[in-house]
Amino acid sequence: MAHMSATRLFTEADLSAGADTELTEAQAHYLRHVMRRDAGAPLLLFNGRHGEWQATLSLRGKKGAAAQVAAQTRPQAAEPDLWLCFAPVKRARIDWIAEKATELGVAALQPVITRHTIVERVNVERLRANAVEAAEQTERLSVPEVRAPVEFARLLADWPAGRRLLMADETGGGRPIAEALGELDKAARAAPWGIVIGPEGGFAADELTALRRMKDVTAVGLGPRILRADTAALAALACWQASVGDWRQPTPRLSSDYRSSRGAV
Ligand code: SAH
Repeated sequence: MAHMSATRLFTEADLSAGADTELTEAQAHYLRHVMRRDAGAPLLLFNGRHGEWQATLSLRGKKGAAAQVAAQTRPQAAEPDLWLCFAPVKRARIDWIAEKATELGVAALQPVITRHTIVERVNVERLRANAVEAAEQTERLSVPEVRAPVEFARLLADWPAGRRLLMADETGGGRPIAEALGELDKAARAAPWGIVIGPEGGFAADELTALRRMKDVTAVGLGPRILRADTAALAALACWQASVGDWRQPTPRLSSDYRSSRGAV
Protein backbone atom coordinates (compact mmCIF):
# COMPACT_ATOMS: atom_id res chain seq x y z
CA MET A 1 0.00 0.00 0.00
CA ALA A 2 1.32 3.43 -0.86
CA HIS A 3 2.31 5.36 2.23
CA MET A 4 1.02 8.92 2.18
CA SER A 5 3.98 11.21 2.66
CA ALA A 6 3.68 14.06 5.12
CA THR A 7 3.51 17.58 3.73
CA ARG A 8 6.13 19.73 5.40
CA LEU A 9 5.05 23.29 6.20
CA PHE A 10 6.48 26.39 7.85
CA THR A 11 4.23 28.14 10.35
CA GLU A 12 4.61 31.32 12.40
CA ALA A 13 2.63 29.74 15.27
CA ASP A 14 4.06 28.24 18.45
CA LEU A 15 4.36 24.45 18.30
CA SER A 16 3.78 22.05 21.19
CA ALA A 17 2.03 18.73 21.79
CA GLY A 18 -1.74 19.16 21.55
CA ALA A 19 -1.61 22.58 19.86
CA ASP A 20 -4.35 23.35 17.38
CA THR A 21 -2.64 25.53 14.80
CA GLU A 22 -4.48 27.61 12.25
CA LEU A 23 -2.91 27.29 8.78
CA THR A 24 -2.78 30.21 6.36
CA GLU A 25 -5.23 30.57 3.50
CA ALA A 26 -2.48 29.74 1.03
CA GLN A 27 -1.52 26.59 2.97
CA ALA A 28 -5.17 25.55 3.23
CA HIS A 29 -5.59 26.03 -0.52
CA TYR A 30 -2.41 24.09 -1.27
CA LEU A 31 -3.33 21.15 0.96
CA ARG A 32 -7.02 20.93 0.06
CA HIS A 33 -7.11 21.88 -3.59
CA VAL A 34 -3.61 21.31 -4.97
CA MET A 35 -2.53 18.23 -2.96
CA ARG A 36 -6.16 17.08 -2.48
CA ARG A 37 -5.50 16.14 1.13
CA ASP A 38 -8.35 15.21 3.43
CA ALA A 39 -8.88 15.53 7.17
CA GLY A 40 -6.30 13.42 9.01
CA ALA A 41 -3.60 13.76 6.33
CA PRO A 42 -0.09 13.72 7.83
CA LEU A 43 1.85 17.00 8.16
CA LEU A 44 5.24 18.05 9.50
CA LEU A 45 5.43 21.58 10.89
CA PHE A 46 8.38 23.80 11.85
CA ASN A 47 8.57 27.43 12.91
CA GLY A 48 12.29 28.13 13.35
CA ARG A 49 11.94 28.04 17.15
CA HIS A 50 10.47 24.77 18.41
CA GLY A 51 11.92 22.09 16.14
CA GLU A 52 9.77 19.93 13.87
CA TRP A 53 6.46 18.31 14.78
CA GLN A 54 4.14 15.67 13.40
CA ALA A 55 0.61 16.91 12.94
CA THR A 56 -2.59 16.00 11.16
CA LEU A 57 -4.76 18.12 8.95
CA SER A 58 -8.22 19.21 10.00
CA LEU A 59 -10.60 21.07 7.74
CA ARG A 60 -12.26 24.35 8.70
CA GLY A 61 -15.31 25.30 6.69
CA LYS A 62 -15.05 25.26 2.91
CA LYS A 63 -11.64 26.86 2.57
CA GLY A 64 -9.78 26.85 5.88
CA ALA A 65 -7.46 24.33 7.50
CA ALA A 66 -5.76 23.72 10.82
CA ALA A 67 -3.17 21.29 12.15
CA GLN A 68 -3.48 19.13 15.26
CA VAL A 69 0.07 18.97 16.58
CA ALA A 70 1.17 15.62 18.05
CA ALA A 71 4.79 14.68 18.74
CA GLN A 72 8.12 16.38 18.09
CA THR A 73 10.21 14.68 15.40
CA ARG A 74 13.38 16.80 15.71
CA PRO A 75 14.57 19.38 18.25
CA GLN A 76 15.42 22.89 17.03
CA ALA A 77 18.94 23.28 15.61
CA ALA A 78 20.50 26.47 14.25
CA GLU A 79 21.95 26.95 10.77
CA PRO A 80 25.50 28.32 10.63
CA ASP A 81 25.54 32.09 11.24
CA LEU A 82 26.26 32.99 7.62
CA TRP A 83 24.85 35.96 5.69
CA LEU A 84 24.79 36.12 1.92
CA CYS A 85 25.13 39.73 0.73
CA PHE A 86 24.47 39.96 -3.00
CA ALA A 87 23.54 42.58 -5.56
CA PRO A 88 20.00 42.06 -6.84
CA VAL A 89 19.69 40.57 -10.30
CA LYS A 90 16.67 40.09 -12.49
CA ARG A 91 13.67 38.14 -11.31
CA ALA A 92 14.37 34.55 -12.32
CA ARG A 93 17.96 34.72 -11.09
CA ILE A 94 17.22 36.38 -7.76
CA ASP A 95 14.50 33.80 -7.08
CA TRP A 96 17.06 31.12 -7.84
CA ILE A 97 19.57 32.72 -5.42
CA ALA A 98 16.94 32.78 -2.63
CA GLU A 99 15.98 29.16 -3.23
CA LYS A 100 19.47 27.72 -3.57
CA ALA A 101 21.06 29.78 -0.79
CA THR A 102 18.30 28.52 1.52
CA GLU A 103 19.08 24.93 0.55
CA LEU A 104 22.76 25.60 1.17
CA GLY A 105 21.99 26.79 4.70
CA VAL A 106 22.34 30.59 4.89
CA ALA A 107 20.97 32.34 7.96
CA ALA A 108 20.19 35.64 6.19
CA LEU A 109 19.82 37.01 2.66
CA GLN A 110 20.90 40.63 2.32
CA PRO A 111 20.40 42.40 -1.03
CA VAL A 112 23.02 45.14 -1.52
CA ILE A 113 22.85 48.04 -3.97
CA THR A 114 26.32 48.68 -5.37
CA ARG A 115 27.43 51.32 -7.92
CA HIS A 116 27.04 48.96 -10.88
CA THR A 117 23.83 47.30 -9.71
CA ILE A 118 21.22 47.61 -12.42
CA VAL A 119 18.22 46.03 -10.73
CA GLU A 120 17.35 48.28 -7.79
CA ARG A 121 13.90 47.10 -6.85
CA VAL A 122 13.63 43.96 -4.84
CA ASN A 123 10.38 42.21 -3.99
CA VAL A 124 11.30 41.14 -0.46
CA GLU A 125 7.98 39.34 0.05
CA ARG A 126 8.52 37.21 -3.03
CA LEU A 127 12.10 36.40 -1.98
CA ARG A 128 10.81 35.38 1.43
CA ALA A 129 8.15 33.13 -0.16
CA ASN A 130 10.93 31.45 -2.15
CA ALA A 131 12.98 30.99 0.99
CA VAL A 132 10.00 29.48 2.89
CA GLU A 133 9.29 27.02 0.07
CA ALA A 134 12.94 25.98 -0.16
CA ALA A 135 13.16 25.56 3.63
CA GLU A 136 10.06 23.32 3.55
CA GLN A 137 11.61 21.21 0.79
CA THR A 138 15.08 20.90 2.19
CA GLU A 139 14.15 19.80 5.72
CA ARG A 140 15.59 22.93 7.31
CA LEU A 141 14.27 23.81 10.74
CA SER A 142 14.39 27.55 10.04
CA VAL A 143 13.77 30.01 7.23
CA PRO A 144 16.57 32.47 6.45
CA GLU A 145 15.87 36.06 7.33
CA VAL A 146 15.25 38.05 4.12
CA ARG A 147 16.33 41.65 4.62
CA ALA A 148 15.36 44.84 2.81
CA PRO A 149 18.03 46.05 0.35
CA VAL A 150 20.77 48.36 1.70
CA GLU A 151 23.26 50.64 -0.01
CA PHE A 152 26.78 49.20 -0.23
CA ALA A 153 28.29 52.00 1.93
CA ARG A 154 25.65 51.42 4.63
CA LEU A 155 26.32 47.67 4.65
CA LEU A 156 30.00 48.25 5.36
CA ALA A 157 29.37 51.09 7.86
CA ASP A 158 26.97 48.88 9.84
CA TRP A 159 29.00 45.66 9.52
CA PRO A 160 28.97 44.07 13.01
CA ALA A 161 32.26 43.87 14.90
CA GLY A 162 33.54 40.30 14.92
CA ARG A 163 31.58 39.15 11.86
CA ARG A 164 34.09 37.97 9.27
CA LEU A 165 33.67 38.88 5.65
CA LEU A 166 34.37 36.66 2.66
CA MET A 167 34.66 38.78 -0.44
CA ALA A 168 34.48 37.23 -3.92
CA ASP A 169 37.04 39.26 -5.88
CA GLU A 170 36.89 38.69 -9.64
CA THR A 171 39.85 40.99 -10.28
CA GLY A 172 42.49 38.52 -9.11
CA GLY A 173 43.07 40.36 -5.84
CA GLY A 174 42.16 37.38 -3.68
CA ARG A 175 43.65 34.00 -2.83
CA PRO A 176 42.18 30.76 -4.17
CA ILE A 177 39.14 30.10 -1.96
CA ALA A 178 40.01 26.58 -0.76
CA GLU A 179 43.49 27.67 0.25
CA ALA A 180 42.30 30.82 2.06
CA LEU A 181 39.52 29.04 3.97
CA GLY A 182 41.67 25.99 4.69
CA GLU A 183 44.19 28.12 6.58
CA LEU A 184 41.71 29.86 8.90
CA ASP A 185 42.37 29.46 12.61
CA LYS A 186 39.92 28.13 15.17
CA ALA A 187 38.60 31.56 16.20
CA ALA A 188 37.90 32.53 12.59
CA ARG A 189 36.06 29.24 12.00
CA ALA A 190 33.89 29.76 15.06
CA ALA A 191 33.02 33.37 14.14
CA PRO A 192 29.88 34.55 12.37
CA TRP A 193 30.47 35.21 8.66
CA GLY A 194 29.11 37.08 5.68
CA ILE A 195 29.80 36.46 2.01
CA VAL A 196 29.78 39.49 -0.30
CA ILE A 197 29.26 39.03 -4.06
CA GLY A 198 29.37 41.85 -6.63
CA PRO A 199 26.77 42.66 -9.29
CA GLU A 200 26.86 41.51 -12.91
CA GLY A 201 28.87 44.65 -13.72
CA GLY A 202 31.39 43.86 -10.96
CA PHE A 203 32.43 45.96 -7.95
CA ALA A 204 33.56 49.54 -8.63
CA ALA A 205 37.25 50.23 -7.89
CA ASP A 206 36.48 52.23 -4.73
CA GLU A 207 34.13 49.49 -3.51
CA LEU A 208 36.92 46.94 -3.87
CA THR A 209 39.22 49.26 -1.91
CA ALA A 210 36.63 49.76 0.84
CA LEU A 211 36.06 45.99 1.12
CA ARG A 212 39.76 45.23 1.30
CA ARG A 213 40.14 47.76 4.13
CA MET A 214 37.51 46.06 6.28
CA LYS A 215 38.67 44.32 9.42
CA ASP A 216 38.51 40.51 9.25
CA VAL A 217 38.08 40.40 5.48
CA THR A 218 39.18 37.43 3.38
CA ALA A 219 39.34 38.21 -0.35
CA VAL A 220 39.07 35.11 -2.49
CA GLY A 221 39.10 34.07 -6.11
CA LEU A 222 36.70 31.47 -7.52
CA GLY A 223 38.90 30.19 -10.30
CA PRO A 224 40.00 31.43 -13.72
CA ARG A 225 36.51 31.94 -15.17
CA ILE A 226 34.29 34.94 -14.50
CA LEU A 227 31.10 33.56 -13.01
CA ARG A 228 27.70 35.17 -13.16
CA ALA A 229 26.80 36.76 -9.84
CA ASP A 230 24.26 34.03 -8.99
CA THR A 231 26.73 31.25 -9.78
CA ALA A 232 29.47 33.01 -7.79
CA ALA A 233 27.16 33.31 -4.77
CA LEU A 234 26.37 29.60 -4.71
CA ALA A 235 29.93 28.53 -5.46
CA ALA A 236 31.26 30.63 -2.57
CA LEU A 237 28.52 29.31 -0.27
CA ALA A 238 29.31 25.68 -1.12
CA CYS A 239 33.05 26.21 -0.55
CA TRP A 240 32.39 27.94 2.77
CA GLN A 241 30.03 25.19 3.96
CA ALA A 242 32.53 22.49 3.01
CA SER A 243 35.52 24.15 4.62
CA VAL A 244 34.10 26.13 7.56
CA GLY A 245 30.40 25.34 7.88
CA ASP A 246 28.18 22.39 8.67
CA TRP A 247 29.21 20.23 5.71
CA ARG A 248 32.09 19.22 7.97
CA GLN A 249 29.56 17.23 10.02
CA PRO A 250 28.28 13.89 8.77
CA THR A 251 24.84 13.93 7.16
CA PRO A 252 22.45 12.74 9.88
CA ARG A 253 21.07 9.24 9.48
CA LEU A 254 17.36 9.77 9.80
CA SER A 255 15.32 6.84 11.07
CA SER A 256 13.61 4.79 8.37
CA ASP A 257 10.23 5.70 9.91
CA TYR A 258 11.03 9.34 9.54
CA ARG A 259 12.26 8.90 6.00
CA SER A 260 9.20 6.96 4.92
CA SER A 261 6.91 9.52 6.56
CA ARG A 262 8.66 12.05 4.34
CA GLY A 263 8.09 9.93 1.26
CA ALA A 264 11.83 9.32 0.90
CA VAL A 265 13.16 5.81 0.33
N1 SAH B 1 33.28 42.50 -13.40
C1 SAH B 1 32.86 41.40 -14.19
C2 SAH B 1 31.65 40.62 -13.77
C3 SAH B 1 31.38 40.48 -12.31
S1 SAH B 1 30.82 38.91 -11.89
C4 SAH B 1 32.74 41.87 -15.59
O1 SAH B 1 31.72 42.51 -15.91
O2 SAH B 1 33.65 41.56 -16.30
C5 SAH B 1 29.84 39.24 -10.49
C6 SAH B 1 30.49 38.96 -9.15
O3 SAH B 1 30.70 37.56 -9.00
C7 SAH B 1 31.83 39.59 -8.94
O4 SAH B 1 31.75 40.93 -8.51
C8 SAH B 1 32.45 38.69 -7.88
O5 SAH B 1 31.98 39.03 -6.59
C9 SAH B 1 31.91 37.33 -8.26
N2 SAH B 1 32.81 36.58 -9.14
C10 SAH B 1 32.56 36.16 -10.40
N3 SAH B 1 33.59 35.44 -10.89
C11 SAH B 1 34.51 35.39 -9.90
C12 SAH B 1 35.80 34.76 -9.78
N4 SAH B 1 36.36 34.07 -10.76
N5 SAH B 1 36.45 34.93 -8.59
C13 SAH B 1 35.92 35.63 -7.59
N6 SAH B 1 34.71 36.24 -7.65
C14 SAH B 1 34.01 36.11 -8.78
